Amino acid sequence: MLTGDRPTGPLHLGHLVGSLRNRIRLQADYDAWFIIADLHMLTTKNTPEDIACVDKRARDLVLDALSAGIEPDQVVFYLQSAIPEIHELAGLLQSLVSVSRLERLPALKDMARDAGVEMSFALLGYPILQSADILSVRANAVPVGKDNYAFVEVTRELARRFNGKYGEVFPVPEIIAGEAPTLVGTDGKRKMSKSLDNAIALSDDATTVRKKVMRMYTDPNRIRADIPGTVEGNPVFAWLDVFGSDRERIGEMKRRYETGTIGDVEVKALLADVVNEILEPMRERRERFAEPGLVDRLIVEGTAQVRLETQATVLAMKKAMGLTGAWNRIRRKAERSP
Ligand code: ATP
Ligand code: MG
Repeated sequence: MLTGDRPTGPLHLGHLVGSLRNRIRLQADYDAWFIIADLHMLTTKNTPEDIACVDKRARDLVLDALSAGIEPDQVVFYLQSAIPEIHELAGLLQSLVSVSRLERLPALKDMARDAGVEMSFALLGYPILQSADILSVRANAVPVGKDNYAFVEVTRELARRFNGKYGEVFPVPEIIAGEAPTLVGTDGKRKMSKSLDNAIALSDDATTVRKKVMRMYTDPNRIRADIPGTVEGNPVFAWLDVFGSDRERIGEMKRRYETGTIGDVEVKALLADVVNEILEPMRERRERFAEPGLVDRLIVEGTAQVRLETQATVLAMKKAMGLTGAWNRIRRKAERSP
């Protein structure tokens, strides 16, 4: 199983329901690889200031994952840019996909728009680099949020195409969908994202959570509690549906909201409690894993392990493609010549 995140900020509730809970649920059943995708970060954020934050953000990602329930002995964490063979692998895949296939991916256009950048060559190649991540460890399962489905589709095509053309090297990986494929942000408009300032981080303290929930976008037409409100598309209720467990109470609140007999503040107070209840055990785990050096050691050991794995995959690809044979023949002739 391969998943991971870009070191662009702390993990948030969207990660939890889009992919992290699946990673936690499946970590014992799979060899689980957890990429810190800093090369992917460069597709939308490549200033020296962005790059200077990579190590801190990488540590934060790992600590966030451990706090949420990942066990350090079940999962291998690694830093993408420390494994140059990932680029080699991506290069070997490039001839198997057309530019127009990539240009048609709406998720890539969304990324460019949200980040306010033009479509660079690297961003267009995002799905190929991600395929290299997935295929480098020959993953069978990829737990991801909805914005990533189309990219993993490209990976599946590449795996099939490679196997068909050169011989069986890769499993065709399955997408493991989260309970909420896209969690909307506090702005109620766009998907919750580290880069959009609309997220509740898993590391936020109880007071910050309450403040952010209280400022959340709701029904803009509802300027008083006695005006009937809309539940449909209201992020506060969307979140209650995902995170709440007291269905009856939430159902009752929806009815009262639609008839104008409950204030936004009461609904938001419940939501803040619900979210804090989910985050509280993570706060305790975080203290446990905050031991200095632990996270860095995990990343260093994991990176060494994945590097070996990736080198073996690249070699298997080159053998299947015939590149190793070509090089060996040239070398033999060179040795034999006077
Ligand atoms: P960035 O703003 O830098 O793109 P991000 O918050 O979108 O960051 P990523 O690192 O791009 O996070 O995504 C990591 C994983 O989490 C992916 O599998 C992605 O699909 C999933 N994910 C991210 N945001 C959400 C969300 N709001 N709802 C569901 N899944 C999400
Ligand atoms: Mg993203």
